[in-house]
Amino acid sequence: MSEDFYDVLGVSSDASEDEIKRAYRKKASEYHPDVNDDPDAEEKFKKAQKAKEVLTDEEKRRAYDRMGHERFEQAEKRGGFDGDGGAGGGPFGGGGGGPFGGGGAGGMGDIFEQFFGGGAGGRGGRGDRPRQGSDLRTRLRLDLEEVYDGSEKTVTVRRPERCDECRGDGHPPGTDSRTCPECNGRGQTTQVQQTPLGRVQQTQTCRRCSGEGELYEETCGECGGEGQVRREASLSVDIPAGIQDGQTLRMEGEGAPGENGGPNGDLLIEVSVADHPGFERDGDDLHYRQAISFPQATFGDTVTVPTMDGEVELAVPEGTQSGERFRLDGKGMPRLRRRGHGDLYVTVQVVTPESLNEEQREALEAFAEAGGEEIEVEQGFFEKIKSSF
Ligand SMILES: [Zn+2]
Ligand SMILES: [Zn+2]
Repeated sequence: MSEDFYDVLGVSSDASEDEIKRAYRKKASEYHPDVNDDPDAEEKFKKAQKAKEVLTDEEKRRAYDRMGHERFEQAEKRGGFDGDGGAGGGPFGGGGGGPFGGGGAGGMGDIFEQFFGGGAGGRGGRGDRPRQGSDLRTRLRLDLEEVYDGSEKTVTVRRPERCDECRGDGHPPGTDSRTCPECNGRGQTTQVQQTPLGRVQQTQTCRRCSGEGELYEETCGECGGEGQVRREASLSVDIPAGIQDGQTLRMEGEGAPGENGGPNGDLLIEVSVADHPGFERDGDDLHYRQAISFPQATFGDTVTVPTMDGEVELAVPEGTQSGERFRLDGKGMPRLRRRGHGDLYVTVQVVTPESLNEEQREALEAFAEAGGEEIEVEQGFFEKIKSSF
């Protein structure tokens, strides 16, 4: 299971604080060790707690988004103390010229570096780490025929896509820009405070330029500077034959666009399969009810039964009981991503006539008088019929 805080809570990376809190409450009630016997429940509970703590804190969340899960955890493990004196290459850009290089010799030890908001150093600003776009979800309703054959369907989703007008930059190409005066192009601002622990340096993404380090004269009119627009996309999906109601298909890379060159998210398509008027589905098997007459059941007959693949003949032997079940081998649904099909079970139902004409009535009375009302049942009679359900 992914450790990513968004995955832990099952929310998308652009989820609002409310959504995050709601998702947390759900997880918490699910995994609370008092109510869940799963030995991992406590662990999961703690993870959800941690995820909520970070994602509902605006500053921590920004840091998390920028650093990614691993680096964030590393930074946190180090307790935020820049113990190695700002040796280059650390996540906090501690090398010479970096934001923390100003302490002078001997000053390093007492610099408590609050890692939240610490950028990747270097040329500040664009230190953002590539981030995968969020997964999107949609539903697709199929009928049984489409599932039987496997088919190609079109799904339509409204999704964010990279703005073509500005190629995702948020400003028209060639727009004049100037270095952000607030952060001098670093994309971050640093404040130094005196505390009992020593000097505390707090670094934040620059509010004025949102961490870009540059201010642009013009904003893209198409996307309002977001670099993304919501657009309707029609996608063709291959439906594998035999898919079950409630299963999900994943289309890689068809979700929301990634950030800072990260890959796109995926599109998850939840499939629902509509009930069929004739067949009832049970996994790969199908069930069908066939009405037969009293003489057909008595003398035996050949009846025509529908299947998903055309009609077939079913031999009903003489003396067939109402409720008896016959199996048609391989006439069920295709097995998903495997060879072969399930079976088709045909349950026969003997229909008792509700009205008879004169001739039929006389014939049936003669049958009754000739001993037709006597019923003899062998042992196991009911068991045999019960098996049909
Ligand atoms: Zn700035
Ligand atoms: Zn744009």
